[in-house]
Parts: sequence; C-alpha cells; structure tokens
Amino acid sequence: MLLDGKVALVTGASRGIGRAIAKEFASQGAKVALCARSVDALQAVADEIAAAGGCAQPFALDVSSADGVRAVVEAVTEHLGRLDILINNAGITRDGLIARMKDDAWEEVLNTNLRGAFYLTRAAAKIMMRQRCGKIVNISSVVGLTGNPGQANYAASKAGLIGMTRSVAKELGSRNIQVNAIAPGFIVTDMTDSLPEALKAKLLEQIPLGRLGQPEEIAKAALFLASDWSDYVTGQVLAVCGGLT
Ligand code: NAP
Repeated sequence: MLLDGKVALVTGASRGIGRAIAKEFASQGAKVALCARSVDALQAVADEIAAAGGCAQPFALDVSSADGVRAVVEAVTEHLGRLDILINNAGITRDGLIARMKDDAWEEVLNTNLRGAFYLTRAAAKIMMRQRCGKIVNISSVVGLTGNPGQANYAASKAGLIGMTRSVAKELGSRNIQVNAIAPGFIVTDMTDSLPEALKAKLLEQIPLGRLGQPEEIAKAALFLASDWSDYVTGQVLAVCGGLT
C-alpha cells in the first residue's frame, strides 16, 4: 500500500485518466477526493471504488472558479483531515486553426487547463507548507512539449503547466513538497475518441510502441510521483507517450 493514510485530491476524476488515477490511488490505500463538474459521474466512480474496498468522496467543482476551488479544498480538509497529494488533471480541448480561433475557445481552454491548476496549487500549497510535506502532479501533454497544429490554445495551456511545475517546484522544495508533471501521449479516453480514424492511423505510425496508451498507464506514473518512491524527484516532466517525443 504505497499511499496508506494519504489524502489525495484528483480533478477531472469523473472519467478517463482522472478516474484511473483515483482508482489506482484508492487501491493503494489513499482516501480520494474526486472532483469534476458532473456529480453523478463522480458518484459512480466513488461507488466503484467503494465496491473494491477503497475510500473516495465526490466533490462538485468547476476548477476555473476561484471561489469553487477555495470552498472544495476547505471541504476536503474538513472531511478527510489533511491534503497530501494534488493531481491537477481536469482538462479540455477546443481545437481550431489560429487564424479562426475564437476568443472564447482560447479562454475556456486556458481557464480550465491552466488557471484551474493555478487555483488548486495555490490552495493546496498553503496546506502542504503547514504540513511540511506534499506531492503535486500536473497532467500536461506531449503537445505542450512539441506543439500541434490546431491546438495553439491547448498547447499553450499545457506548456504553461510545465513552466508552473518547474517554478513551483523551486519555491516549495525547501518545504519538502515535490511538484512534477506528466506529459501523456495519446491515451484512449473520451478526449481522443473523437479523433478521425485517418489521424489516429497517422499517429500510430509515429509512436515507437505502436499503440495508443491506456489511462491506467498514466495512473501508474502518477502513483510513482505521488508516493514516497519519488521523494528525490521534483520539477520534472515525465513523458508517458510510447516514445512519441
Ligand atoms: P476526458 O476523458 O475528457 O476527461 C476530462 C475530465 O476533466 C473529466 O472528468 C471532466 O469532468 C473534467 N473537467 C473538464 N472541465 C472541467 C472543469 N472546468 N472543472 C472540473 N473538471 C473538469 O479527458 P482525459 O483524456 O481523461 O484527459 C485528462 C487530462 O489528461 C487532461 O488534462 C488532458 O488534457 C490530459 N491529456 C490527455 C491525453 C489523451 O490522449 N487523452 C493526452 C495528453 C494529456 P466534467 O466534464 O464532469 O467536469
């Protein structure tokens, strides 16, 4: 049990990568605060975790709301006692070529993917600094490292997350708080489900391991970065991408 007695807050826990991380952490003994906008989907994940003998509680949250984040972080520490691990995973895409990208497509993506992570990191850092320990893992993307046509907004948000990761790691290292990022490649979730088959086939040609990744494979990397196994690792970006980058 790598996370016995730890409390973890996972955003975007209602499906895909966040759900896999929440389930992995609960199976390793963590109490997990599940956050997303759709409460019914969160409750279903909490029920799955409970059925497997784990502990998880849903918290409705839109990460782009500063007040919402403040209230949920307060509620999590009140209900679960402390906060050891923060996983900033909530994310969206609104793709489009730059010349035609609407302001709201830029703002919505940046507000969810980057501003949300900022609000949560700020709130969690205060608690972790008092505790003198903590782990923050930001789910970025290989697109934040390489760029991708049609994803200027998304790539900017994910590259921004990497800059934030490295800066906050330097700020919080002296308090024994590790801050790292994961850059997933193409993972089988609702987010990639809508990609045209021709594009998926082209992508596969570029992935040395010859397949898309599974959410559980990101969850294993998150477990490493959230557990004591990574106590001497901070400010790093772990690409879990089948060799794509
Ligand atoms: P997904 O299946 O679409 O799930 C996204 C999650 O984020 C959902 O739980 C969603 O729940 C939540 N979310 C979206 N907007 C939110 C908001 N404003 N406040 C709170 N929660 C919000 O996506 P995924 O593929 O699992 O992606 C998870 C993360 O990995 C994202 O940051 C994504 O950018 C990153 N990533 C994914 C891939 C990939 O290939 N799939 C690759 C690289 C990086 P609600 O809609 O209920 O709020």
